[in-house]
Amino acid sequence: MGGDTSAHWLDEGKIAASLAKADTVDAGQIREILSKGLEMNGLDASDVAALCSVESPELAAELFEAARRVKEDIYGNRLVLFAPLYISNLCSNECLYCAFRVSNKQLARRALSQEEIARETEILIQQGQKRILLVAGESYPEEGFGYVLKSIDTIYSVKSGNGEIRRINANVAPLDVETFKELKAAGIGTYQCFQETYHRETYARMHKAGRKRDFDWRATVFDRAMEAGIDDVGMGVLFGLADWKFEVLAMMDTITHMEKTFGFGCHTISVPRMEPAFGSDVAAAPPHPVSDADFKKLVAILRLAVPYTGIIMSTRESADIRRATFDMGVSQISAGSRTNPGGYSDNEVAESQQFQLGDHRSLEEVVRDVAELGFVPSFCTACYRTGRTGKDFMDLAKPGLIKRKCAPNALASFEEYLLDYAGDATKTSGARVISKELGDMDPAVGKLAKGLIDKVDQGRRDVFC
Ligand code: SAM
Ligand code: SF4
Repeated sequence: MGGDTSAHWLDEGKIAASLAKADTVDAGQIREILSKGLEMNGLDASDVAALCSVESPELAAELFEAARRVKEDIYGNRLVLFAPLYISNLCSNECLYCAFRVSNKQLARRALSQEEIARETEILIQQGQKRILLVAGESYPEEGFGYVLKSIDTIYSVKSGNGEIRRINANVAPLDVETFKELKAAGIGTYQCFQETYHRETYARMHKAGRKRDFDWRATVFDRAMEAGIDDVGMGVLFGLADWKFEVLAMMDTITHMEKTFGFGCHTISVPRMEPAFGSDVAAAPPHPVSDADFKKLVAILRLAVPYTGIIMSTRESADIRRATFDMGVSQISAGSRTNPGGYSDNEVAESQQFQLGDHRSLEEVVRDVAELGFVPSFCTACYRTGRTGKDFMDLAKPGLIKRKCAPNALASFEEYLLDYAGDATKTSGARVISKELGDMDPAVGKLAKGLIDKVDQGRRDVFC
């Protein structure tokens, strides 16, 4: 199994043909596809191509409503929170859209020491974070990739008050199978890697130097990660580089390849849109910008296409866009983010950041906003720590695991946040949402949730089922 060294499953001609055919699809056929999406068994490539062709506001509204219902049925009101932790901006690649690219001599380069990483972690814990996405450029200090492994150990070792980081996901450059095994042994949750663009010609134009020039090495990264036993992987593209419809279909083909090869697909999909980045002309004027209207559409389409795959919305987006997409299928959001190494300790928007952020609010402001919108901010890390990952997660998710387990766990983790980190206004909004959620739950699940919350109120921490 696995072992692919070329992304043979990506057929640009086939994608172009699907998109051309989709232009002839009528409203009746779109409505049939939306009904199929509501069955929550996912959609095939031709269905996805057809939904990408939706232009009329009326059909777009029906698409959003279908996505909202699927999100509500599978995920309920939960939104999982995390923050990125940039450990280094050293990089030997030349990605034209990124401030960390090797030719950017004006960027202040910095690889944090283990003490500095511990300090950043402490600050995040003191804000109430429990999940971190470790991020680094593709060049490591003297010890090589061991630097990343050591950093993971450091982050997990930090305790502050009642808190600690309970799950580290990692967004680092593609590795070989042996190094992926070391990353797994270090205890990561999800391994994340964005293809940036699945369009080969665009990829070649945007990646001018370094290891990342090799399209196939990157496009086959999940084969190697999964072969190494990492079964939660997260994909994404950098929207703005090529036609968004092409990218969505290419992601679907990659997921189909993973399902055929390993029996299950992707744990998460991220949907980063390109943001301005220090000294980058490409980032200042993306070749294929995605409008807000299309962006919402693509989130809704992904929700219907792969209903059990989490969708991640980062702080690249403004608070308004983030709010608009919560309803349509987003299940994880970052908050209070800094994209420069040392950004939490320095507490200023530095020139060493990777790109500009759209949402500058603190974690607590985001939590309060999310709660006031009626969502449950979740800091839960139970699935990965109880071994519910990869195929096990997917198999259990389908008959309703998320509702039975994640909902009570989310409430318990939110109660922990409210008691340990929240101010009065957030406590009030939070208590309201918890009480509404408990009231709306199936009685048996509600009882379980109440039991967990009571334990937290009595002083226990990190309780889950
Ligand atoms: N250096 C590694 C790599 O490229 O795989 C890992 C992390 S890189 C710092 C994280 C991601 O940031 C990239 O995969 C890219 O999609 C995204 N990124 C780079 N420049 C960006 C920009 N101008 N706006 C938004 N996202 C950007
Ligand atoms: Fe380096 Fe990643 Fe930025 Fe490319 S996207 S320049 S590989 S940090």
